[in-house]
Amino acid sequence: MENSAKFIFVTGGVMSAIGKGVVTASLGKILQFRGFNISVVKIDPYLNVDPGTLNPIEHGECFITEEVWDFKPVPDSDERIYKISEIDQDFGTYERFLGITIHPSNNITSGQIYLSTILRERKGRFLGRTVQLIPHVTDMIKQRLFEIAKKDDLDVLLVECGGTVGDLESSIFLESFRQLRLELPKKNTVFVHVTLVPYSKAVGQQKSKPTQHSVKQLQSAGLQPDIIIGRSEEPLEEDIRNKISLFSNIPKKAVVSNPDLDNIYELPLLFEKHKLGDLLCETLDLKAKLVSYSEITNFSEWKKTVEIFRNADKKIKIGMPGKYFNITDSYISINDALEHAAAHQGYKTDLKMINIDSDTEIEAQLGDCDGILLTPGFGERAVEGMIESALYAMEHKVPFLGICFGAQLFFVAFCRKYLGLNGANSTEIDPDTPHPVVDLLESQKNVSEKGGTMRLGGLKVFIKEGTKLYDAYKTYEVVERFRHRYHINKNYITEEAKQKGIRISSTDESGRIINSIEMDRTDHWMVGTQFHPEFNSRPWEDGVSPVYAAFLKKAIEYKNKKEKD
Ligand code: GLN
Repeated sequence: MENSAKFIFVTGGVMSAIGKGVVTASLGKILQFRGFNISVVKIDPYLNVDPGTLNPIEHGECFITEEVWDFKPVPDSDERIYKISEIDQDFGTYERFLGITIHPSNNITSGQIYLSTILRERKGRFLGRTVQLIPHVTDMIKQRLFEIAKKDDLDVLLVECGGTVGDLESSIFLESFRQLRLELPKKNTVFVHVTLVPYSKAVGQQKSKPTQHSVKQLQSAGLQPDIIIGRSEEPLEEDIRNKISLFSNIPKKAVVSNPDLDNIYELPLLFEKHKLGDLLCETLDLKAKLVSYSEITNFSEWKKTVEIFRNADKKIKIGMPGKYFNITDSYISINDALEHAAAHQGYKTDLKMINIDSDTEIEAQLGDCDGILLTPGFGERAVEGMIESALYAMEHKVPFLGICFGAQLFFVAFCRKYLGLNGANSTEIDPDTPHPVVDLLESQKNVSEKGGTMRLGGLKVFIKEGTKLYDAYKTYEVVERFRHRYHINKNYITEEAKQKGIRISSTDESGRIINSIEMDRTDHWMVGTQFHPEFNSRPWEDGVSPVYAAFLKKAIEYKNKKEKD
């Protein structure tokens, strides 16, 4: 396939979860500063077709894309399609850094590659041949990469490979990268290896040995890194950079330090300080383009945004009752959207993640919070505690934002408290509830398969004037991203319910699906959205989610009032 794009391959060494996604996004950013049209692919070597059916405790958040992809494992055939919009959480990081909307087909999983290979074999696409990992699977991988680079007419495609070098399941992807380096012109590929450089307290030194081992492993797969990015608590010491350079066979200027940072958005600036952008251009034989000004791709604008985050020094405490807090990434887009909204109002968020179990004392936990964000989720565990959290917000008039499940449970709480509907519930939680105030979407009634079958992706939201939601967006129509099967049952928004203070603030195009609700009161800001505005929040001023900004504003007012009283 004809290709003019250059490729940057990002691999990880020593261990996972060291911030490879942030590194990849930051490499993309410094190329954007130079005017290049870039995008990112993430490879997830697991066998799931997409991460939609994974528990967030297992894999972190599932990011939802604007578009829904009709993935057809066998093109030009009567083979079925699979809907994909649920992808790896790293795409949240990429979109937040780069300000681009990335297509779900940029998340390549082993599941997709093997499904395509096996189903194509059944359709006779390899007639007469033995289907093998090399060349058939590696060809499939390379073809996916070329297609993406071509479709968006990219200058550079960054390809992050999930997991750690040495994992059996990622080896076929590394092999594809090796072939690409061989087949493409010399200056069309760069290999960046992100590795952990631990600090040994006992000897008071940073240690390079784990990096040496992981580079050896990369070399034994036929890959030589061009650039090494060392993740460490403190900046890399000079002698460590020398050692890594010597043992890894790369110049010292290509050993780049990536210490822990107060704010991840600082990383592109740090890379610029190391002249990493120039090094990438030199290695890829690229000349910076002249660019027209844009808030998103301009270096000085990015610096200004980073300053805003640096200067935000007041604290605002947001309580997040939920059920997936065994790892910090389960709601990462929410954490980030809250942080964006707070920073632009001069605040840093102090997120109190409340992992609800049967012993959790909700009142005691929420007592010191300036705002409550009720989290998305699935299934019965922790639900009563989440409903109690919504009741607490109503009783104490704490600013409240419910997202998806959080909005549904806000409505359950309202129906129990204000309409006296004892036992009101979502049919997801209690299929036999006497009051199914949250119920399965009509379009879901015949759905039995689990993967990619929810109401998904970016959809139009029609906002009603005179609502808190309208005050936030200041427009009648927006597109936000959805991921749900159940919804607020309109039959329960009766005249009585309206009088008791509930209000529909937006619906879908038909008016039949409720997209958001709120309390119709002047003394309390309580909003629930069926959609996830956090997926569209970006760190620069115009990128902040209007709903999150409005919520934070109310939380700050609440905090100030509390302090005065
Ligand atoms: N479990 C709920 C539903 O399917 C909410 C989903 C969510 O919070 N994303 O509708």
